[in-house]
Amino acid sequence: MSGRNNSKVRRLFVRTFGCQMNRYDTERLVEILGEEQFEPVVDYRQADLIFINTCTVRDKAEQKALSYLGRLKGLKRRRPELVVAMGGCVAQQHGEDLLRRVEHLDLVVGTHGIGRVPAMLACYETTGERQAFVDLTYDFGDVSDGRSRPWKPGVSSYVTIMRGCDNFCAYCIVPLVRGGERSRPSHEIIREVGSLVECGVREVIFLGQNVNSYGQGVPDELDFAGLLRRLAQVEGLVRIRFTTSHPKDLSPSLMGCFADLESLCPHIHLPVQSGSDRILQRMKRGYTRDHYLRLTTELRKTREDVAVSSDMIVGFPGESEEDFRQSLSLLEEVRFESLFSFKYSDRPQTAASRLDGKVEEEVKLQRLRELQRLQERITLEKNETRVGQTTRVLVEGPSQAGGTQLSGRTPQNQVVNFQGPAQLVGEEIPVLITVAHPHSLEGVVCMENNERFKAVKERSWCGK
Ligand code: SAM
Ligand code: SF4
Repeated sequence: MSGRNNSKVRRLFVRTFGCQMNRYDTERLVEILGEEQFEPVVDYRQADLIFINTCTVRDKAEQKALSYLGRLKGLKRRRPELVVAMGGCVAQQHGEDLLRRVEHLDLVVGTHGIGRVPAMLACYETTGERQAFVDLTYDFGDVSDGRSRPWKPGVSSYVTIMRGCDNFCAYCIVPLVRGGERSRPSHEIIREVGSLVECGVREVIFLGQNVNSYGQGVPDELDFAGLLRRLAQVEGLVRIRFTTSHPKDLSPSLMGCFADLESLCPHIHLPVQSGSDRILQRMKRGYTRDHYLRLTTELRKTREDVAVSSDMIVGFPGESEEDFRQSLSLLEEVRFESLFSFKYSDRPQTAASRLDGKVEEEVKLQRLRELQRLQERITLEKNETRVGQTTRVLVEGPSQAGGTQLSGRTPQNQVVNFQGPAQLVGEEIPVLITVAHPHSLEGVVCMENNERFKAVKERSWCGK
């Protein structure tokens, strides 16, 4: 707590790079700094504090964050009182060294340091000494690891339920920059979800690097299936989603949740990474292609309408043309609803960075393009099967196209755009799908005569 400027409202600008977990941490930061009289602004040039929340999972993400930091040099020169802070994985990875390398950077906030920002800021402002905090063993003390309400009004909200990772996949830097796996206490998560629902949130998306190992090693804690069953009882919570699940830990009890829980959306993000057993072994993923195929078959048997999405890496060290063909054939076999695909990039101190057999950039790029072309065809074919069907859509807000078009998602996580009044935002409504695109669907609302539709009232979000 700085206590220095408590009477004066100051302006905070946050630029977030990377995954949903970073966006969640940004929301925590905004809440924590809100208590210190900081108000978020949309123009970084107006800010008293600029916080860059970074990701280092792939080299490109790190370069983007560093280049953004570089562009702030002139602004800091013109306004020396501006505080520039860098948080997240890049900050954790480089630590104090970043302060040495970047003169206009004032605070380096490691991945366990968000709750420490007010104290770091106060120390910097009092002493003029630039600060770095990168302790991965910090246990959060009395600082809540969650947040109590959404930063921006919204229908859907992320809730991080666990942090870090113990898996050490050969290519991945996450365990090194986020530390070991740690589950948040279930009572804290339940409380947070309750307050989000009170603020008008209808859908929560639980986040963790490996959500299905939630609670492992914590005495008397719920396991992930138990947590889902408990949260499914929260009144007013219409939809539950989660990401990411590791195939090696997908338990029968979690599969059972898909069969039993109405509010659990029939969608699972289950990263496979490669279709080749040889590469999966080199990646240290802990499952085989066959095991993965059995899981997806089992899931679809448990719940026929379940959508499966995945992550795939091309050009992992040692990946031959034949290994890559096996990734393509896995795509044909599983037919994912959607796929995130990446060119392998070396990350510092990971096991894969020391492997030989590095694949040339040009080859990686060709493989990525071929993989993406195949997946685009599969996604479009899957989307086309939806045409003529009526599906429940949770309305999230105006569509990117603007005008009176609204946008929402099917339970399977497909984006649907349709015409409708703004009052429908937050409602789960039936929509007849009329057109399929590669990345979205179009439809028409089919409830014009429905009483509830007529009675929808303007929502108020947390009094904002
Ligand atoms: N915990 C999740 C899991 O087990 O799959 C994924 C977390 S990681 C933040 C998101 C995705 O980034 C991974 O699934 C992987 O496909 C990709 N990724 C991670 N490290 C990478 C690397 N060094 N090069 C390319 N892609 C990488
Ligand atoms: Fe990285 Fe593997 Fe952990 Fe996912 S499970 S965060 S890919 S080490």
